[in-house]
Amino acid sequence: MKKTFFIITAVALIATVALGLCACSDLSDVYDGTPYTDPDSWRLTLHTDFTALDSLDGTVWAPSPHGLRKYEYWCADMIEFGDEGLIVKSVREDDHKCSAGICPQSGVFTSGIETRDGDEVLFEQAYGYFEATVKVPLGTGMWSAFWLQSNNVGNIGNGGKDGAEIDVYESSFLSDPTKTGSAIHVDAYSAPWYSYGDHVADTGKDLYDGRFHTYAVLWTPDAYIFYVDGEETWRTDYRGVSTVPEFLRLTVEIRDPEYAVYGPYGQKIGAFENADDGANDFVIKDVKVFACDDFAPYVNSVQDFDDKKGAYTAAAVCGAIAVAAVICAIATLIVVLRRKKRTLQK
Ligand SMILES: [Zn+2]
Repeated sequence: MKKTFFIITAVALIATVALGLCACSDLSDVYDGTPYTDPDSWRLTLHTDFTALDSLDGTVWAPSPHGLRKYEYWCADMIEFGDEGLIVKSVREDDHKCSAGICPQSGVFTSGIETRDGDEVLFEQAYGYFEATVKVPLGTGMWSAFWLQSNNVGNIGNGGKDGAEIDVYESSFLSDPTKTGSAIHVDAYSAPWYSYGDHVADTGKDLYDGRFHTYAVLWTPDAYIFYVDGEETWRTDYRGVSTVPEFLRLTVEIRDPEYAVYGPYGQKIGAFENADDGANDFVIKDVKVFACDDFAPYVNSVQDFDDKKGAYTAAAVCGAIAVAAVICAIATLIVVLRRKKRTLQK
């Protein structure tokens, strides 16, 4: 009788912990892809044709925040305009002249643009279709990205619902040029609550052919669906689809070649080198955003969510107690079974 009781207790506790872990897993395979709405309710909410611009004045775009990023400096002076659109240059310089007087004289300099200027968000939207037509940098040691972000992504708890980093694409598969990566990051950027889900897709086409490619995400209340040149590459609702408005970012990052010549998906990208043939240029031609009015009832504001750090800490303590209980139950079970065996042997 005791044996049965202990077995039931142990199985129940293990099942509880296992179910808790499963609830956090990716549910992308259950999304059936049913069109959420009819196309008539879609409308264009942002269109920037960068080939028609010679500055960002009067647009919803601003240079990414000035200063040291990781190894590289983001300097607004690295942004230029050409016939093909906005160009983010990437160079190592020993005589860098920063017009803002922020950057050092020596270093590796690059930049990006976003629909946020300092703390002021210039354009943001929850749900819709977001696409950017760009030429990725062809040089080694660097990656460009098109991503969406919320100022609230640092909050703990609620998974992605109160804001997620949505990486529509991250390049740097130079050694494997048909591949592209996408990712979702939630709950701040450090342990223990932070997590991310990502996917590397093989598009079957050379994304490093020096031509423009269009990277997009369809963000519905049910899922994020990613596309390269109109072909779906991944769909996910990782840790709950974001329900709050997010701003757009198109950036270049470079890592310290001495410590990490790996891209965001662990792929080797090599060390950064200066190029005088434009190979390191990130060219942004066009960005479009569409909204669907049917999604409006599902939009939340960041104020609708609490930072759940305290509640999560309590949950972690409960979880630790549950795991300890499972270990105790198994240990007790082993002891009981051994005793029973000894009794039978006598
Ligand atoms: Zn600067």
